[in-house]
Amino acid sequence: MRSPIYNEALYYVLGTGEDHFPRCWIQKAPWMFFGRWTGFTFAWIIFVKEDRLDVVVHEMVHVRQFNKGYGIGFWVKYLYYLARYGYSKNPYEREAYLVQEWVQERLFNQIKV
Ligand SMILES: [Zn+2]
Repeated sequence: MRSPIYNEALYYVLGTGEDHFPRCWIQKAPWMFFGRWTGFTFAWIIFVKEDRLDVVVHEMVHVRQFNKGYGIGFWVKYLYYLARYGYSKNPYEREAYLVQEWVQERLFNQIKV
């Protein structure tokens, strides 16, 4: 279990436009994952299949959503959105994927941040 490294914090702050990153812990646990699933966040703990910058930043957005949604309220709303809109149109996922795509664009095009 580790804290975010410098690049994860940097890309989170630049990608979201926020002035700080959420406190969280990251655990690599490849055995937890199957299919195309690469990350999962439980409150302040992020589980990832591998150490991928864009995935960690995506999950950090969920930590901030959890903090802003006052814990249980976030999970209730997340499940409600999931049932109503499905996974990819869930507003919480859309927000996280927007930031993840911002990170990917910079990594793949080797744009310095
Ligand atoms: Zn997500």
